[in-house]
Amino acid sequence: MDSGGGTRFDTSKNFFNVINGKTRSSSRASQGTNPSTMEQLPDVPIASSLDLDEAVRGSRAAFAEWSTIPVERRKALVKSFADTLEAHCEPFAHLLTLEQGKPLRFARAEINNGVFRARTLCNLDLKEESRFEDEKRRAILSYAPLGVCALIVPWNFPISLSTQKIASALVTGNTIILKPSPFTPYCGLKLGELAQQIFPPGVFQVLNGDHELGPWITAHPGIDKISFTGSIPTGKKVMESASRTLKRVTLELGGNDPCIICDDVDIEETVAKVAIISLLNSGQICIAVKRIYVQENVYDRFLDAFVNYVKALKLGDGFEEGVFIGPLQNEQQYEIAKRFLSDIESQNLKVALGGSVNVIGTGLFITPTVVDRPPDTSDLVKEEPFAPIIPLLSWKNEEEVVSRANETKTGLGGSVWSKDIARATRIARKLQVGTTWINEHGALDPRVPFSGLKESGYGTELGLEGLKAFCNSKVIFIPK
Ligand code: NAD
Repeated sequence: MDSGGGTRFDTSKNFFNVINGKTRSSSRASQGTNPSTMEQLPDVPIASSLDLDEAVRGSRAAFAEWSTIPVERRKALVKSFADTLEAHCEPFAHLLTLEQGKPLRFARAEINNGVFRARTLCNLDLKEESRFEDEKRRAILSYAPLGVCALIVPWNFPISLSTQKIASALVTGNTIILKPSPFTPYCGLKLGELAQQIFPPGVFQVLNGDHELGPWITAHPGIDKISFTGSIPTGKKVMESASRTLKRVTLELGGNDPCIICDDVDIEETVAKVAIISLLNSGQICIAVKRIYVQENVYDRFLDAFVNYVKALKLGDGFEEGVFIGPLQNEQQYEIAKRFLSDIESQNLKVALGGSVNVIGTGLFITPTVVDRPPDTSDLVKEEPFAPIIPLLSWKNEEEVVSRANETKTGLGGSVWSKDIARATRIARKLQVGTTWINEHGALDPRVPFSGLKESGYGTELGLEGLKAFCNSKVIFIPK
């Protein structure tokens, strides 16, 4: 694959869908936008329903063989895919910053993280187990692949989220159709091209489309599983549509992660860590800290230190040296952020920092905004802004803060910060979330399952449980 001499993909060349081992153009095309400059990016194909039918046929045909080859061979090919991705880190990082907006160093980190997730998932063993045995017979449990899996991903982490789904689906013996977000199709399409050097035709396909492709996929009778990461409203549509053909579904959805700061923390150190995970990727992370609850007696010191820390973070084009906060990824998200800012103004909330869009050329920039104790009933506390707009709240006692933190329809992640680990663990156990961290927030490990409670998700990704989600359990009773 052409990577423009090693450091860049040649974006003047075409981008393609990949169907049954071959690149495929389309009669209709769309374009992404660089959100730092609003420059229009090259054409990408829009898949037709016939393209989808063909990809499904290709995947079903490839499944017959792929599902039966030894798992160690499948793992070797997935590792080789990870190696190739690593070898193309620079061109992928450049393309990712161009289409997504994130600073180049974080684009590199995302690719390395994708490589790490793929490799680590290959090191997990989904072993056959003996579940029961008596004098007459024993029951053997094994895990059989589901068939054709559609992997539908959002625009905030186009590579790492794709890679964890790709590795989990393929090592367990499924074939895949990857569908990137139409806002960030370029890296996903290149991943598909790259994969053709490694996997047999039909094992790994990728289709970019417009708003019709997702619903076609979820309704398609030839697809066996939807692994979806995206927003809660879309997740509900996916589940509803998939139910008509009883497809297996995993949903990784939105969150509104609380972080509870106790009064014994080292303020400067904690502020730095919490600010980073609040504002990384311009706040566009499902498990970003989105509500910061600080114990009342240290609230003012924490707020001052937080504002000073955030003020020093550089906002700008992801290709500029030293930038920490890039633009929002797309105009739709920018409009949502602007609605939050206008609500803050119209409700006279106390802004400690920022509060406005930021005019840097024509890009989709928002000044990092910190709001001092908005009411618990405000949208900023109740909803996920998915932007660098952070509410700080104060609390008096444990019961009260736990109940406020849990007062939401979401339950993805949360964190508790204290030098007293027993106290932090006690609070952590009461949070109604899938993952709770103590004195950190947001770090995932591919060996550990990840799932959302309440409306944050359905099912599990990562870890052995994530691999099982790409399988049916199968039992054989063997007589003695
Ligand atoms: P989105 O729901 O708009 O889109 C996600 C994907 O679904 C895209 O590929 C899109 O084209 C596709 N899609 C849209 N409509 C569809 C339909 N009717 N049927 C099938 N597919 C359809 O989400 P987004 O705006 O791209 O992503 C942001 C959201 O994702 C946030 O809420 C964020 O919290 C969430 N997210 C969750 C996780 C997690 O692991 N829990 C990780 C990252 C992002």
